[in-house]
Amino acid sequence: PAELERARRLIREVPDYPSPGILFRDIAPLLADGQALRATVEALIAPFRGAFDVVAGLEARGFLLAGPAAYASGTGLMPIRKAGKLPRPAASARYALEYGTAEIEAHDDLPAGSRVLLIDDVLATGGTLIAARTLLAELGYVTAGTAILFEIDGLGGREAFGDPALHTVFHS
Ligand code: IMP
Repeated sequence: PAELERARRLIREVPDYPSPGILFRDIAPLLADGQALRATVEALIAPFRGAFDVVAGLEARGFLLAGPAAYASGTGLMPIRKAGKLPRPAASARYALEYGTAEIEAHDDLPAGSRVLLIDDVLATGGTLIAARTLLAELGYVTAGTAILFEIDGLGGREAFGDPALHTVFHS
């Protein structure tokens, strides 16, 4: 569709950010465009319609997509946050970064067995998504689907995540 084509062109490539040699995909211009945002959110959730009870967004840019996705689906919303931000985290998962490690946390505010659609902006190496899936399992939830706005090819993220149903709207 034309709106999705436009949305694709609104993803900005920023060379050497956050460090030299990295080509950063910046979705801010896409978010700023009403038609592009709506078309993108619809495309994110389309394959999973009716198959999930809640949308989980990964801090921070995942939140910006998970909110409208939950609203459009009539479901609730679950924030997966960086460690230290939640008042009573029920589970956490650690993962490796290029330098050091990171940790994400979540509450257990949903009924056991809830079907969760996991959403984030960009897939690179897959470390973040793998940790999020582990976290959901630890909480007793089912990952009903995973939807990513932009997949960077060639970094092995899709292979590492290993889910043939992984849905990405755009890729490099
Ligand atoms: P991964 O864990 O290596 O797959 O990296 C994915 C995480 O890092 C996501 O939460 C993204 O928000 C963030 N990320 C990695 N590369 C980019 C990028 O080029 N643009 C925006 N976010 C990125």
